[in-house]
Amino acid sequence: MADDAFARTLLAWHARHGRHDLPWQTPDPYKRWLAEVMLQQTTVAAAIPYFTRFTERFPDVATLAAASLDDVLALWAGLGYYARARNLHASARLIMTRHGGAFPRTLAAWTALPGIGPSTAGAIVAFAFGVRAPILDANARRVLRRFHGIEGQGTLVTQRLWEHARAHLPRTRIAAYTQAIMDLGALVCRARPNCPVCPLAATCAFEGEAPAVSARTRPERQAVMMLVHRRRGREVLLLRRPPKGIWGGLWSLPECAVLSDVPTRLTELGIDGLVGAPGTPLRHVFTHFALTITPVPVALRPRSCRARANGDIMWHPGGAPAPGVPAPVKRLLNQFW
Ligand code: SF4
Repeated sequence: MADDAFARTLLAWHARHGRHDLPWQTPDPYKRWLAEVMLQQTTVAAAIPYFTRFTERFPDVATLAAASLDDVLALWAGLGYYARARNLHASARLIMTRHGGAFPRTLAAWTALPGIGPSTAGAIVAFAFGVRAPILDANARRVLRRFHGIEGQGTLVTQRLWEHARAHLPRTRIAAYTQAIMDLGALVCRARPNCPVCPLAATCAFEGEAPAVSARTRPERQAVMMLVHRRRGREVLLLRRPPKGIWGGLWSLPECAVLSDVPTRLTELGIDGLVGAPGTPLRHVFTHFALTITPVPVALRPRSCRARANGDIMWHPGGAPAPGVPAPVKRLLNQFW
């Protein structure tokens, strides 16, 4: 059976207008896997420098599996959604132990790894091994939804979209086709679609979308972070965050909700310190909320701290390579030093 018009049109468009020089556009399954995980919640432009640093430091799955989670998180710091880094590290170890260091070639084997859903698995096997597997990432979903005039949400809608994704797959050139549907969504069929230049415009069912009722506003949250320091400010106390939740597993500063809670939090940590004047608040925007952080310096009184360094507590010296800390904490540390 011949490829359908949708696939033929996309492939022809991609040959002339698609992206062909992204640093992960090689058949190397390691690079494809790493890129697909990075791109799950990150734009191409933001992912490229991280991808470059990551592959320089961890050039293959064996190096990544042998690294400590702290080293992996340190390179991921600033990219967000840290569960991706933890899952990547855990998957690298499973690929070494379960698959003898060889990358699996089936969807089932990839989706059995932590953090790999069917669309990510489809993209990896299509790009790395030319397997005829569909994808339904945000870009492909938007293109298929509009092209086929599918509205609404829910499991049935998702099933229909997967069916269309499968039905359009060409017999060959699967890697080019997968990149083509991603690129059309990223470059043309964007949130505000550029239909006049779209190769699918003649047969697309899209008739426009109702404008959003109101612009999305992010809830505002507050936090106080304590720069507990000793040795005349040469070392700052860092605590490891719990593995789940925001900045999971990264190193961060002791924190509390409001300034009046600072003494209680210090007591909980066994710290006797001289609390200084709050510094200039720093605002950090997440996908779902904005966080305003007020930094507070706390000079440790000599021999007063019961917080001893261990796997979850660190006295970080200024000037030393930064451990895996979230971007706003890094900024606070840089301001402090
Ligand atoms: S014609 Fe417009 S809505 Fe349809 S696929 Fe192209 S860009 Fe998207």
